[in-house]
This record gives sequence, C-alpha cells and structure tokens, in this order.
Amino acid sequence: MDMGIAGRTALVCAASKGLGRGCAEALAAEGVNLTIVARTAETLEATAAGIRAQTGVDVKTVACDITTPEGRAAALAACPQPDILVNNAGGPPPGDFRTFTHDDWLRALEANMLTPIELIRATIDGMIARGFGRIVNITSSSVKAPIDVLGLSNGARSGLTGFVAGIARKVAAQGVTINNLLPGVFDTDRIVDTIAAQAKAHNLSIDEARKQRMASIPAGRFGNRDEFGRACAFLCSVHGGYITGQNWLIDGGSYPGTF
Ligand code: NAD
Repeated sequence: MDMGIAGRTALVCAASKGLGRGCAEALAAEGVNLTIVARTAETLEATAAGIRAQTGVDVKTVACDITTPEGRAAALAACPQPDILVNNAGGPPPGDFRTFTHDDWLRALEANMLTPIELIRATIDGMIARGFGRIVNITSSSVKAPIDVLGLSNGARSGLTGFVAGIARKVAAQGVTINNLLPGVFDTDRIVDTIAAQAKAHNLSIDEARKQRMASIPAGRFGNRDEFGRACAFLCSVHGGYITGQNWLIDGGSYPGTF
C-alpha cells in the first residue's frame, strides 16, 4: 500500500531506541524526511546513520532532553514546520503513590503531558495552514487500564489524553489528525530493565521472568518496535485522514474489555 507521505517532514521525539525509533524507521521507509531527537548523541547518530543507509531519506539529529524548554527549542529550530509530529519521552518511574513528591509529579507532567502539548502548540498552526498534519502521541495502555505502581504515568498521560480529545475535533476539518498510540508490553530496553527487576525480586532467571510475563498476554509474546512503527506510519498516512481523536491500544489483546 502506498502511504502517500513520501517527501513529507516528520519530527520524531525520543527516537534513538525503542518505540520512537520504530516510528522513525517506519516513516522513513515511506520516504518521510526526519528530524530525530534523543538524549545520547552517540546512540542517536548510530540510529540516524542506519536509517539513512536503509532508506536514503534526509535525517537530521538533535541530541537533547525534549522535556526541557531548551531541548524543545533546539528540536523546533531543526524542524520548525513538520507535517508529522510524533511525541514521545521516557516514562516516569514506578512507585507507591505515598512516596511521590510534588517535584516527582511536576517532572512526570513536564515529560508526559506538557512537553507534547508545547510541541503541538508550536507546530499545529503550520499544519493547519498547509492543510495536512498528523500528530501521534505515544502514551501507554495504563491510560485505559491503570497500573497501580505507575500512578505518575496514569495521571500525567491521562491529562494529555483529555487535552488531545478536545483539540482533535477543532482541527479535523483542516486536514490535521491527532491520535494516541497506547503500547502494552513491547520488547524494548525499558521492558528488559523491568523484567530484570522482576526476576531479581522473585528469584527467577531472566528467561523464566520473561516467560511468566508473556503468558499473561493473549498473543503469547511481547510486541516489537516494527509493528508499533507501522501502526504509527498508517495513522500518519493519507489513508489515516478520517481517524482522529482516537486511543489505539497495541497490546496483543491484553486489555480484557469489549470496547
Ligand atoms: P526505550 O527506553 O526503549 O527508548 C526510549 C527512547 O527515548 C530512547 O531513544 C531515549 O534516548 C529517548 N528518551 C527518553 N527520554 C528522553 C528525553 N527526555 N528526551 C529525549 N529523548 C528521550 O523506551 P520505550 O520502551 O520505547 O518507551 C517509550 C515510551 O513508551 C515511554 O514513555 C514508555 O514509558 C512508554 N511505554 C512503553 C512500553 C513498553 O512496553 N516498551 C509500554 C507502555 C508505555
């Protein structure tokens, strides 16, 4: 299927690894020129080189913390007029809500709610003026089915979800869509770390801990970044023009509800 977005420009945040990288790679495979952002220059440059070699698209890099005003300014200076914006950043740490401080909450809100809102605010009017825009926010299945130890994530991401639900309807007639992708369990560094912690806590081998976790997923496996990225590319394609304001779970069937 021709996605119809070759030659478009995308700003993809937190994209040197994991789900953000999956989105960057899938967009590049459709001929989209990229600006990719991540904190560690070395990993970011290696990812950019790989994407250029595989696809031949133009890939700019910005090594920064996207959750800071300076980081966002640098990303927007490199890519002031994206046709496609993929919002992503690291998730907040787990913990007992009684231990979360006011500063912990501010950090979570900054990373997982206010940063995407700021980037949307900075880019959406250009998309409206050009009559085409695609915004995808990487959130979490925890928005739909809260995970008790991820209170910071449940809260901050739900704030973003509520905001997006409102504005998506305001810009739909101008060719701009805004959707959220809600990952379940994906085989990225973040999950490798979580499984290692679970294995240690329950005195299991890493392999045993992985198998236990997979057994709780109807698909019987973790997701991979390629399939996540391709879902993102479809939402960003010309064919996704009538899909807006949605929260797409990609979780191998883990969410047990009918709707
Ligand atoms: P990952 O650790 O594999 O990759 C994270 C990427 O984001 C890296 O490129 C890193 O450099 C970059 N990054 C992190 N914080 C950044 C910042 N402040 N500024 C710039 N770049 C930053 O993580 P992942 O598994 O791909 O997760 C991506 C997001 O999806 C996270 O918010 C995570 O909480 C969420 N999520 C992941 C899963 C999963 O199963 N992997 C499930 C639910 C939600």
